[in-house]
Formats: sequence, structure tokens, C-alpha cells
Amino acid sequence: MNERDSEQVAQMFLERGGYVLTADEGEADVILINTCSVRDQAEQKALGKMGMLGRLRRVKPHVVYGFLGCMAQSRGEELLSRVPHLDLVAGTQKYHRVVEHVDGLLRRRLERRMDDERYSIVDVGEEEGSQNTIRDQVVGERQATAFVSIMQGCNMKCSFCIVPYTRGGERARPMGEIVAEVRRLASEGVKEVTLLGQIVNRYGVREFPVVGGLSPFVQLLEGVHGVEGIERIRFTSPHPIGYRDDLVEAFRRLPKLCPHVHLPLQSGSEGVLKAMKRPYSPERFLEICGKMRGTREEMAITTDIIVGFPGESEADYEATKAVVRAADFDNAFIFRYSPRRGTPAAEMEESLQVPEREKEARHQDLLALVNGQAKVKYEREIGRVVEVLCEGYSKTNRERLSGRTPQNRIVVFPGPHDRLKGELVRVRVEEHHAFTLYGEPEVTGL
Ligand code: SF4
Repeated sequence: MNERDSEQVAQMFLERGGYVLTADEGEADVILINTCSVRDQAEQKALGKMGMLGRLRRVKPHVVYGFLGCMAQSRGEELLSRVPHLDLVAGTQKYHRVVEHVDGLLRRRLERRMDDERYSIVDVGEEEGSQNTIRDQVVGERQATAFVSIMQGCNMKCSFCIVPYTRGGERARPMGEIVAEVRRLASEGVKEVTLLGQIVNRYGVREFPVVGGLSPFVQLLEGVHGVEGIERIRFTSPHPIGYRDDLVEAFRRLPKLCPHVHLPLQSGSEGVLKAMKRPYSPERFLEICGKMRGTREEMAITTDIIVGFPGESEADYEATKAVVRAADFDNAFIFRYSPRRGTPAAEMEESLQVPEREKEARHQDLLALVNGQAKVKYEREIGRVVEVLCEGYSKTNRERLSGRTPQNRIVVFPGPHDRLKGELVRVRVEEHHAFTLYGEPEVTGL
């Protein structure tokens, strides 16, 4: 979601004129960091990076520095005292105001106003309709994939999560505008879209009616499915709450929906889920997984799990392992619980806190279990021919290309970049290392 919001801000600068993007920090006149608050480590990284970049001001006194996004939203004014060279703090409902703020700040700096040193802008209020402002894209040459923001905010208030405080309540974009954005992307050559929201299956539940037994989210999926040129549709993330049969059935009816779902489990213990304020049972979670696997032969299911939530006993942890075994995940992001300021879980008694070394032991143990399950699935791919949407050069090897299978597995393969970027390629898988498949394209005349 942050990537998508950053693209929007970049696009607005380009549209304004007089700005170009640079990958070189030393060359930049404006440096904005879009921040994440979901874990403390992410905030520390952003603060460290901004601290280091401050040295550029000695050589270029006019440089404008800004923090955007979740940390900006939750810490606001306080960031100005933490980072003395900071000029702008813009929250999650203010991305569309960033250009205007930067313009003003740059003008002041270039005019060398007397009070420059102290002049800064903090803009973190709520703004009605802000969810409708994430809608423009910088589409690169032969870009294969794009993110599309369909909603903002979350009404759930899981006890560990800072998101409802940084991104506000749930607000959906109109269906027609989303489909129009997807149509524009398709006309520029994009073949795969990922619909983004905190809980995508709750898209529009308050704004739009159920039609013919279909939730607004499934109606939206149908609308996007009808866009010519779009070959693949993904979404992230759904929530077990409200994951109804109309969404399960959509996977049978809509062939462009990729056979992959990322469904956050968080814990497999009934008691911990309750303490997390996640209102579903482990049995219900497994029931959804079973139904999803029943829709397509090759359905991949991935998840997020937190270990060491306050009060998590050894028995609770074992319950999580049992669900992991039963769900047979294709992959899982496993996190050690990290208290987030202002959330109910951070206020839980000290005696409930799980010691760090216990968290680490559970983290390693669960990783080993998940990696073992994933290995079986990745090995099964060897010798098969898979369909890969080529996204461009591999991040780790510029001589090779990389893309993803419908199940969202990364595949690295050789081939001419000019011809294959943005194309669907059939690749015969030869081996895998960890979570990457390697193979040879089955394309004639390469
Ligand atoms: S569903 Fe829970 S974890 Fe997800 S964003 Fe909302 S509050 Fe956070």
C-alpha cells in the first residue's frame, strides 16, 4: 500500500511540472520518505535514514525533507523535534497535498526567507474523500503489473495493530472509478492488477448494496474481470471475517483471478485470537482454506502469523503449529510480536509479555515448519511448465529475467529483456532455491 501511495505522490509531482524523479539522493532537491508504523523496526529505519540524509543540507541548503505516511500520521509534530532538519510531516490522508506543500517550502528556501530555519508544515488531519485521491499511476515502459488502491482504513481494531489509528476508518472508492483506472492501466499495457485494501473483502459494505447475492467486493472483481487486456487479478489482504461463499465461488467463475490467496491467520489459538480481537475461530479459518483449495487444482495459500503475543502460552503456540500443519501453507510471514504505541496490546500487563528469547525460539521453530511445507510444494514444481508474467530483470541477477506464476511464486529465467518484459512466458522449472524457482523459457526463436 505504501508503494502505491508513493507512486501516486510521484505522479503528482510529474504532473505539476518542473520536477523529475531521480534515483540519486545527492542530486535531489526534495527528499520524501513514505513511512510504515506496523513494526517499531520500520520506524527506526526511517528515522535513521532521514538522519543520514540531513547531511546533504550542508552542501545544498535549499533541500526539502519530508516524512509521509503512517509514522508521520501517528507521531506528527513530535517528529520535528526528533529530526531538526525536517520540513514536512504529511499524514495518510494528505498524499494529494504534498506537492503543494513542497512547492511552498521550496519557494521559501530558494528565496532565502529569514525564518526559513524554523518554518515547517505538519498536515495530519482527516480529510473526507482522501481515499479517492490514490488513482493516478506512473506506468513504465512495458510495465506488467500494477497496484490499485480500492479503499483506505480499517474498522477492525485488532489489539496489536496501529493501522486503524494511522489510516483511519474504512472508506471505499467508487466501483466505476476503480474499473476506469484498471481500464487505463490495461490500455498502457499492464496485464496484472493487485487490488489493495486493509480488508478487501469488506470493500464497500457500508456504501454499496449486495446485488444478486454478491458482495460489493465480488461485484468489483467482476467489473475488473471484464476489462480487456487484464489477464491476471490479485488482491491483498482479505480477512477471515466476511470471507463468504460468494468470494469462494468467484474463484471458480472468474478465470483471471489468480489461484492464490493471502489470508492472515495471526494465531491458531482460540484464546489468543480473542485477546487479539480477531473474531474468528481456528476452525473457521481452516474451513475457508479448505473451500478455497476446492475451487482450483493449484490454489496457493499464504498467511501472516504473530508469535509471542502477550499471554501466548506454550499450548497456544502448539495450537498455532497445529493450524499451520492443517492449512499446509505455501508460505507465511512470521513476526515476533512488537508492541505498538497506543494499541491495547501494548498496555497489557508486564507479566503477560513473552520474553524475547522465547519469541525468538518460537519464530525460528515456526519458520522451520513453514519452510519444510513450502519446500515440498516448490520441489513439486520441478519439471513442470509454469506460466510466468515477466516483470523485467531479476533483482539479484541483472543478466536474468524474473516474473511470477499465478500462485505468486517467483521464477528466474534467461531470455531477451526487450522481447519478454511484460509478456506471459511459459517456463520449464529446473530447480529451486528457497522461495525462488529457476528454469528455461519454452519460447521458440529466442
Ligand atoms: S484487520 Fe486488524 S491487523 Fe488488519 S489492518 Fe485492521 S486492525 Fe490491523
